[in-house]
Amino acid sequence: MTFITTDCPGCGEVEIPLGDVTLRVCEDDDSARCAIRCVHCGARFSKRVEDGMSLLLVAVGVEVDPWTRPAEVDERPLHLSPIALEEIEQFVSSLRAADNPLSLLPSPEWPAV
Ligand SMILES: [Zn+2]
Repeated sequence: MTFITTDCPGCGEVEIPLGDVTLRVCEDDDSARCAIRCVHCGARFSKRVEDGMSLLLVAVGVEVDPWTRPAEVDERPLHLSPIALEEIEQFVSSLRAADNPLSLLPSPEWPAV
């Protein structure tokens, strides 16, 4: 069995079997990160991977998981500040208070329930 050596946030330096490593490649910018599950504590974490290391990981058989950025990432206008905790709490409160959460949607295109 082949292992990689990395730093787990909880355990420090650990050896992880390749089966617990996935190479996630962003198809938008060709960046890559390793998604790792620590076999010692169960923590999941990721590490940025440079091109040369990506090729090496593929060559030794690490699973590759390509992904693209969801369109929602670019939907919030740049001039707005990041979503605040208070906004999320207000949203959750509104959902809980509504008899029909779909009634909160502004679009008349949604079907009535
Ligand atoms: Zn760990």
